[in-house]
Amino acid sequence: MSSFFESYKHRGMRRGLVQKLYHKGIRDERVLRAIEQVPRHAFMDSAFVDHAYQDKAFQIGEGQTISQPYTVAFQTELLQLEPGMKVLEIGTGSGYQCAVLSVIGGQVYSIEYNQILHERAKKLLDKLGYTAQLKWGDGTEGWEAQAPFHRILVTAGAPQVPQALVEQLEVGGRLIIPVGDRERQEMLLIEKMEDETIRQSAFNLFSFVPLLGQYGWSQS
Ligand code: SAH
Repeated sequence: MSSFFESYKHRGMRRGLVQKLYHKGIRDERVLRAIEQVPRHAFMDSAFVDHAYQDKAFQIGEGQTISQPYTVAFQTELLQLEPGMKVLEIGTGSGYQCAVLSVIGGQVYSIEYNQILHERAKKLLDKLGYTAQLKWGDGTEGWEAQAPFHRILVTAGAPQVPQALVEQLEVGGRLIIPVGDRERQEMLLIEKMEDETIRQSAFNLFSFVPLLGQYGWSQS
């Protein structure tokens, strides 16, 4: 169950969180302002609401987690999303990252593998007034009918880069995906250049829940 009650106390705590993220190195104003705006506590189980503005990941049920705010900020900063761009997220989870992308002004598409989480996120985003197209399915295959995307963001740890995601990226586009083993993943940035060649850069290590599905990990 998520609860939604917004008070000046929550807003104050969010400003504190934004300062913490700034000190940890996040400098993109669009990202910081979006995190300041989205009520993260509304995306969490009511038992954890008091912890919503700590820089920590939390369980959202179904064995899944809402990413740590620093991770959300780091990925969103690398994404360089601009208003009006089409962005695909793999791993809707709680819907929190969708809300952040939507506040920045992206046209948001998001795929979730777990049906219960998909339905819950859909209801919640609707209730909170965020616009995103949500789909229940295997995100490792991308979203062919809506491709190409200016930006693609994967929020679960992958064993490899799914080819469909690279194919569904627009020329000049950016794909952010954590790739590694089941415990630790390196954050990769994949850019599709004007001549359609691919440039890959690697950033910090993170620890995500596994990306499942055809081109992800097997479920066990
Ligand atoms: N972005 C989320 C956190 C995601 S946790 C948030 O803001 O709350 C990772 C999510 O990826 C989980 O909900 C998990 O069910 C989902 N997932 C795992 N494999 C997937 C796949 N192949 N396609 C789509 N979603 C997947």
